[in-house]
Amino acid sequence: MTHAHRKSLLLSLLFALFALCLSVYYIYSSYQDAHQQIKTRLENDSFLIAEWIKGGFTSSDYLLRDVISQVDLSELHYPPKDPEQHAKRKAFLRDKLSTLPNGMLMGLFNSQCLVTHTNAKDGFDASDRDYCKAMMTEPERKTVVSQAYTANNGQLNITQGRKFDFDQPGFKGMAALAINPSFFADLMTPLNYGKQSNITIFDSNLTLLARKPAVPEKIGSRIHQPHAEAFLKTRQSHMFLDIDSPVDGLKRLFILRNVDDLPFLIIIGAAHQEWQANWRQRTGIILVALFLILLLAAFGLYSYWSVLRHLKELERMKSEAEQLARVDMLTGVSNRRDFTEKAEICFAHFKRHNNPLSVIMLDADHFKHINDHYGHHVGDQVLQQLGSTLKNTLRTSDINGRLGGEEFAAVLPDTSLEQAQLLAERLRSKIEEISIDTDQGPVHCTASFGVAQANNDDSFHTLFKRADDAMYRAKAKGRNRVEVEVVDRVVG
Ligand code: GH3
Ligand code: MG
Ligand code: MG
Repeated sequence: MTHAHRKSLLLSLLFALFALCLSVYYIYSSYQDAHQQIKTRLENDSFLIAEWIKGGFTSSDYLLRDVISQVDLSELHYPPKDPEQHAKRKAFLRDKLSTLPNGMLMGLFNSQCLVTHTNAKDGFDASDRDYCKAMMTEPERKTVVSQAYTANNGQLNITQGRKFDFDQPGFKGMAALAINPSFFADLMTPLNYGKQSNITIFDSNLTLLARKPAVPEKIGSRIHQPHAEAFLKTRQSHMFLDIDSPVDGLKRLFILRNVDDLPFLIIIGAAHQEWQANWRQRTGIILVALFLILLLAAFGLYSYWSVLRHLKELERMKSEAEQLARVDMLTGVSNRRDFTEKAEICFAHFKRHNNPLSVIMLDADHFKHINDHYGHHVGDQVLQQLGSTLKNTLRTSDINGRLGGEEFAAVLPDTSLEQAQLLAERLRSKIEEISIDTDQGPVHCTASFGVAQANNDDSFHTLFKRADDAMYRAKAKGRNRVEVEVVDRVVG
């Protein structure tokens, strides 16, 4: 594995890590953004609804002020003193009511909260209604807005009233309106959340007044909502809640908002599935891209390891091949190339340190005859035996090898000529004992030896030349014998 490979792998891993960190950061921060956005939207929309409700009740209060300013307290009688005047006043009230889109009833009440004029049933005693009780028992109170309740006509309504002489304490009668809860439903029309999200308006008794998406059958029912009840007790202006909806179990981010002095509660629940939709989609794309990047990095890593594994395998095969290139396949001893390399190193060592160094050369006798007589395969077996005899007899520090054909040699460091001669003799007699079984009986073999010791004037070649000469003398003198060099020599 080159440095460049390692560097590019490291770079791609760093890149993958960087991409991972960046993605995590992006996913996290875009979630924060989406969360902040929905909170702001919920806050703004609920605030708008609250302002619209307040605006609605303020304008209907102006209508009540207008009525009060045009009616004399002396008219608040039932049964009427002047039926004609009474009928006119009722017509007047009907006209006024018609200017209010969500107004259902308009009536005048006397100081006992008896309804003196109305477009419904005159003479009704409303003194036990909560809004009447509030007006009659709180002398400083000028106006009232009731909780939702079902009126005499069977319709759910909210009653808004303003007392006569409202600058004075005490209760002398009032003008009041019944407002249709559809007023609240109309307010929601411009606001659009998804199908899973919802906007609801309750009175402070948690009677459902309006809902989007609509659930007409639930309007007017009291809904048990512990979170809303707890919120109403806190008297906070608004509050967020991130919970599973108690109704359908969906996860929603809720805002709960009070409408200042009016007894209404606005709740908007934005379904996680909807407000997170964009964020989820982007996260999905990022995760897919990240997955591909990590896959690429993993693939790079895998390629790196497999290249590394292949390189190791190649390295092993190369050293095996090198080893094989140095061994003589038939005999298992060093081949000529390996022997020569090692012998040259040994000879160079001798040149530096001048320790005694000797050489033995040997050549099988009449080997051609063995081949010719017993077959090549028997000749091969003889060569194998010669090789193993050589290996087993020499020291491990000695160098031996097959120079070619049936010729072998050994280089013996720290060995004098005499010692080498003795060793050659030992080898000779061991070879003499070799016996190979064949169809034509046992085959024996001998070898002729030449021994020489290195001197200071020697080159590698002159040393071997002397050993070779000695070996040929051994051949000439009848074979199966050891001959030592004959030149005068300087012992190292
Ligand atoms: P001398 O005693 O004078 O050495 O006679 P020789 O027959 O041993 O010598 P010569 O050089 O005439 O013959 C050597 C033979 O060795 C000839 C060759 O075919 C044979 N030979 C060389 N390499 C191998 C081998 O790997 N296997 C076998 N079986 N024979 C080989
Ligand atoms: Mg030969
Ligand atoms: Mg020979």
